[in-house]
Amino acid sequence: MAKEKDFPLIFDMSKEGRKGYQLPELDVPDVDLDADFEDEYIRKEAPELPEVSELQIVRHYTALSKRNHGIDSGFYPLGSCTMKYNPKVNEEIVRLPGFSFVHPYQAEETAQGAMELMYDLQTSLENITGMHQFTLQSAAGAQGEWAGLMMIRAYHESNGDTERTEVIVPDSAHGTNPASAAVAGFKAVTVKTNDRGLVDLDDLKRVVSEKTAALMLTNPNTLGLFEEEIIEMAEVVHGAGGRLYYDGANLNAIMGYARPGDMGFDVVHLNLHKTFTGPHGGGGPGSGPVGVTEEMAKFLPKPVLTKKDNQYTFDYNRPDSIGRIKPYYGNFGINVRAYTYIRSMGPDGLKQVSENAVLNANYMMRRLQDEFELPFDQHCKHEFVISGKKQKKLGVRTLDIAKRLLDFGFHPPTIYFPLNVEEAMMVEPTETESKETLDEFIDALISISNEAKEDPEIVQDAPHTTVVSRMDETLAARKPVLKYEKE
Ligand SMILES: *Cc1c(COP(=O)(O)O)cnc(C)c1O
Repeated sequence: MAKEKDFPLIFDMSKEGRKGYQLPELDVPDVDLDADFEDEYIRKEAPELPEVSELQIVRHYTALSKRNHGIDSGFYPLGSCTMKYNPKVNEEIVRLPGFSFVHPYQAEETAQGAMELMYDLQTSLENITGMHQFTLQSAAGAQGEWAGLMMIRAYHESNGDTERTEVIVPDSAHGTNPASAAVAGFKAVTVKTNDRGLVDLDDLKRVVSEKTAALMLTNPNTLGLFEEEIIEMAEVVHGAGGRLYYDGANLNAIMGYARPGDMGFDVVHLNLHKTFTGPHGGGGPGSGPVGVTEEMAKFLPKPVLTKKDNQYTFDYNRPDSIGRIKPYYGNFGINVRAYTYIRSMGPDGLKQVSENAVLNANYMMRRLQDEFELPFDQHCKHEFVISGKKQKKLGVRTLDIAKRLLDFGFHPPTIYFPLNVEEAMMVEPTETESKETLDEFIDALISISNEAKEDPEIVQDAPHTTVVSRMDETLAARKPVLKYEKE
C-alpha cells in the first residue's frame, strides 16, 4: 500500500502565531463585523488554518510541484491523450494585457482584436481540416463530440428523418466516442477491427442500416494506423443516409498531408490542448473546436462569430442552431495559444510536425519490435501499440512494466488500451523529442524486459524510487480524500 516517505503536511508544520505575510498599517476605517452584519453570516470560531512562515510555504509548494511528472520534467509518451508540445512563446503571448485582461462582458466594439484572433483561428482550422466552418465554443474533445452529434441529430430531424437511433463506433475507439453517443441519446453500435488493425469494411456494411445516424471515426485510429479504406467507408455510410464524424483529437500525423474534409467527413472536432499545444492543466480548461460542412453550418452552436466589412460580431439570430453549449465563446486562453502556435509554425512547419511525429513513432516501434510483440506489423502514424504478452508469460504484467518505467524517470505509456490488444502499451513519442530521448526510453523498456527474464521481482515490486509506491487506483477514484481532517 501507499506509504508516505517523510513528507509532512502543511498542517503538521503549523506553529501558533507564525506568519508568512506582513500587512501595512490599516489606513481605512475599521469595520466592526459584529455590529454591521447579521449574526448568521459571521463565523463563531476562527478557521483552523496552518500558520507557517513564508519560507515554509514556498518550500512546501515547491516540493509538491516536484512530485508531479510533467512535460517540463521528462518524456511523456502517453499515447492518444499525450500532452504534446507546450512552447514557451505561447505563454508570453497569452499574457499580453490585451489578451489577458479582455473581459467576456466587454462591448463587442472594444474587443475587436480578440474577436479577430478567434475568427482567424477558425479560418486556419478550416484550412487545415478542409471543413467549411468552425466554432470555438466547446471546452474539450468530449464536448465537441457531443455537440457534433447533436448537430447530426438536428440535421436528420430537419430532413424529417427521426428513426436514426444508432451511432457506429469501432471497437478500438477512444472511450469518449461511445460515451458521447450515449449522452447525445444514441445507441452505440460496435464495428469490428480486422487483422490489420483497421475497420473491417464487411462488418461495417453489415451494421450500417436505415437506423444509422453516424459513424464516428478516428483516422489514424487509436492503434496509430491510417484507415486506408476511408473513401469506401464514407460511401457506405453516406449511401445509407448516415453522416461521418471525425475524432481529430490528435491531428499531428496528417497535418499538411490529408484533410478529414477531403476524406468525406461531415463533422470534425480537434483538441487544441493536444495537437495545437495547449497545456492540459489538471483536467482543463481545454478547447475542442468543431468544424462542419456547408450543409451542416446552420446547426452550429450559437452565437456564431461573423465578419462583415471588417467588423466582428456574435450572431445570435440562428433559428436552426443546436443552441449555446458553453458560456461566452470558449476558452480564450487556449485559443490564443493555438493561434500563436499555428502562426509561428506556418503551413510548412505544420507539415514538418506530421513528418517528425510519424518518423519518431516508426523509429521507436521498429527498435522495440524484437523485444515486445507487435500486434499489427505495418508502418504506423503518430503512435503505435506494442503488447507485453511475452513478458506476461514470465509473470510480469504490463502494469508492472509501466510502474518500473517510473524508476527510470519516464512517464509510462497508455496501458491496457486500446481494448482489442492484450497487454497493450500505446506509445506516442510526439514530434518534439530528440533521438537521444527516444533511445533512452527504448533502452529502458528493453532493460525492463531483461529484468523480467532475470529478476522479475524488481519489476513486480516497482516503483522503488517514488514518494509513494503502488496505490489502490480504484479507491483513489471512487473515494478520493480531498481535504484534511484534523485528528
Ligand atoms: C483525448 C481524446 C479525446 C477526448 O478529449 P478530451 O478533451 O479529453 O475530452 C477523444 N478522442 C481521442 C482520440 C482522444 O485522444
